[in-house]
Amino acid sequence: MQPLRLALVGIGKIARDQHLPAIAGDAGFDLVAAVSRNARVDGVAHFTDMGALIASGLAVDAVSLCTPPQGRAAQAALALAAGWHVMLEKPPGVTPAEVRRLEPGDRTLYASWHSRAAAGVAPARAWVAGRRILSVRIDWREDIRRWHPGQDWILAAGGMGVFDPGINALSILTAILPLPVAVTAARLAIPANRAAPISAALTMAHGAAVISADFDFLHSGAQQWDISVESDGGRLVLRDGGARLVIDGVAQPLVESGEYPGLYRRFAELIAAGQSDCDLAPLELVAQALRIGETIAAPAFSF
Ligand code: NAP
Repeated sequence: MQPLRLALVGIGKIARDQHLPAIAGDAGFDLVAAVSRNARVDGVAHFTDMGALIASGLAVDAVSLCTPPQGRAAQAALALAAGWHVMLEKPPGVTPAEVRRLEPGDRTLYASWHSRAAAGVAPARAWVAGRRILSVRIDWREDIRRWHPGQDWILAAGGMGVFDPGINALSILTAILPLPVAVTAARLAIPANRAAPISAALTMAHGAAVISADFDFLHSGAQQWDISVESDGGRLVLRDGGARLVIDGVAQPLVESGEYPGLYRRFAELIAAGQSDCDLAPLELVAQALRIGETIAAPAFSF
């Protein structure tokens, strides 16, 4: 079978760190175009925006969107209208509504959630399935200056602030728990000179179980991306964003095959099957938190 001719849109940190290596290692894709206002990819045709790519008439089968979330749904709509399959980085858009409006028709629309492809997530889901959940605790603490230097869009309107990494935890949560989750309370600390939270505390409900979550973007100590699940049949902890799994204090052996290679395999499978996969549950939780959250003024932030 011929490889899918792919355009990569938004050549920034995640495109270079993860997408370019994953695409290079996947025989199912051939990178034919890079779309970015400033950046280039050596040896690949360059366009400054989606309109220029479409106008060029270059033969493209699929696009992968790695721009900031603000504007991503509009780019996806353009690509679908051009007849291309679309893979969305997380979060798939700024609001669930703008993503729901997309009409893939017979094209594939794939809202990727890279943390769901972490090695510990599928075994965690299997463990949770046979147990009654009593409580869940999420601790997601990282240093914005280390992981997102200069990325002002994260703290702008629609950037969702600390929920940009925090939504990864919510993507795992909603993948491993069997029932719908709802936000019941939220506190959001928003810097005086920014529009999005730099830290947040959420309380959520899952059946009778309470889920508490702390998201912190100003954490300078050991970085922490942990989810702990207490059940009637023991305790499970996903560490390092789902890369490590500990059950009742015992580290579990895991098969590590890489998050982004897994996402591109899934994209190709969906295209071959003529299907879409656009789960908005994590984005719904962020939207709920931003809607009902009590806001607290935080000191002005600069990188
Ligand atoms: P980034 O480094 O800022 O890269 C995004 C790129 O998009 C920029 O380099 C920029 O390239 C282009 N762009 C187009 N319109 C833009 C605008 N209005 N403002 C800023 N840049 C714009 O961001 P990133 O870290 O790669 O994140 C991109 C997406 O990937 C986000 O949704 C993020 O949540 C997700 N993600 C990031 C990570 C991570 O560790 N960083 C991990 C997983 C997922 P040009 O200037 O050349 O147009």
